Amino acid sequence: MPNAHILIADDDPSILESLSGVLRDSGFEVSAADGRDSLMRELGHATPDLLLLDVIMPGADGVQVLQELKSDHRWRDIPVLMVSSLSPDEMTEKTFGLGAADFIRKPFRPRELIARVQAQLRMHRALSSTRDALRDAEDELRRARDDAESRKKVVDILHEVTGDLASDEIYHILARRVARALSLSRCSVILAKPGDAVGIVATAFDDPALRHFEIHLDRYPEIRKALETGESVLVEDLQNSPLHANIRLEWKARGTQVPIRSVIVLPFSLGDGEQAGVFFLRRMANEPALTQEDVAFADTVVKAAVAAIVRAQLLETTRAENTRLEVLAHTDPLTQTLNRRALTVRLVSEMDRARRYDAVLSMMMVDLDHFKKVNDSQGHLVGDDVLREIANLLSESVRSVDFVARYGGEEFVVVLPETAQIGAVKFAERMRERIANTSFVSAHGGVKLTASIGVASYPTSEVHTVDDLFARADEALYRAKAEGRNRVCQ
Ligand code: GH3
Ligand code: MG
Ligand code: MG
Repeated sequence: MPNAHILIADDDPSILESLSGVLRDSGFEVSAADGRDSLMRELGHATPDLLLLDVIMPGADGVQVLQELKSDHRWRDIPVLMVSSLSPDEMTEKTFGLGAADFIRKPFRPRELIARVQAQLRMHRALSSTRDALRDAEDELRRARDDAESRKKVVDILHEVTGDLASDEIYHILARRVARALSLSRCSVILAKPGDAVGIVATAFDDPALRHFEIHLDRYPEIRKALETGESVLVEDLQNSPLHANIRLEWKARGTQVPIRSVIVLPFSLGDGEQAGVFFLRRMANEPALTQEDVAFADTVVKAAVAAIVRAQLLETTRAENTRLEVLAHTDPLTQTLNRRALTVRLVSEMDRARRYDAVLSMMMVDLDHFKKVNDSQGHLVGDDVLREIANLLSESVRSVDFVARYGGEEFVVVLPETAQIGAVKFAERMRERIANTSFVSAHGGVKLTASIGVASYPTSEVHTVDDLFARADEALYRAKAEGRNRVCQ
């Protein structure tokens, strides 16, 4: 890992020189300190990626220095390799619980030194990128929660106003309200647009069975007039209304007895104009005639009603939209598996559950081998298809309590609740074989590829948190890659 910055603290100039030489030759940037004070000065300058610390320096015990660094938030995360002529056992005892990352014994072997330094740097990088990813996921989660909260408020307010009703039911309630307020025996809502020959009875207060019944508008000149003019129409007495002159002749010819005396028609149209029609208010021959005041009153009620219906429709759309957004917010668009954010959320709650019930839990981190080659040779679109098919293969293979997430470009995570390490490794091995034996995107002649899989489980001596689980799975995956790919490591 060239360009990493390593700080060496040792009071022995010859050791400082040889350590620096070996590390510089491997491409590291090196700075040196010959005691506690110059070490602190160097740390003040720049935070190194790794510290090699001599256990015994004059004027300062390396173990004390280690303790000091680990209790200071600025330097707590720097991996520290302790260098000493003591045996590893003696060193472990001396520094037990203080958070030294590893030990190197003097005289050191250059190759071992480099290998240990590289291993620490790699682990530290994996850990801090996982930490960053977790932090990002948490931020995103918080934002998503805030969004959901404000959308929920809007829904709550609408809910209060409209009482959670479909527009059909609102029509019915309104017809009833208007009928009661004006002491009408008949009140219905008829859906129709100007020029329509037929209207649909959305609700009829007087006769609920009439719902969705069709009426021929040529028999209702007052409804046609209201629809065409967009103005309310008052007919005080059907028996002498000029509007009904023709239809009265028809009634007479057929001997039809019309029991209605007066009528008010109030046109309405909902927000998008899709739903339009009239409120149709009537009084019988033996009741007092309707008046212009009744029109004014009914008009006020209907206007308020229409506003309520528009809100109800808005509510319905908002609900549908909410559901859609919720699905979008936790789905990876390419593979339709969980995205990283949803993975973290579910994993945190699975981990809580496992902790509460003393249950086990495993994670597989799957990374496709040399996937870049698939893109390079077959094109990015075929690459996308392969990712989709791999996601399907994983999703189809897991139990219903398990979940699959796209963790990164060509990297998937499978979480197996209630599965211990042995079972998870077996399952991972099966998945590895299936991937290796499948020909993907057969329409394009078939793409063969393999995957490397890292498995980690909770609880183990090293895994106590979600963070640990990611770190261990990632480490195992890294090993699977390093050992030649197309394999499972734990
Ligand atoms: P390794 O075996 O080391 O994992 O090799 P690799 O090529 O798979 O790994 P590397 O991480 O270097 O490259 C991953 C590649 O995955 C690079 C990128 O082009 C490809 N990739 C990432 N996301 C997508 C995607 O959404 N669609 C397609 N087609 N390719 C993607
Ligand atoms: Mg990768
Ligand atoms: Mg890969």
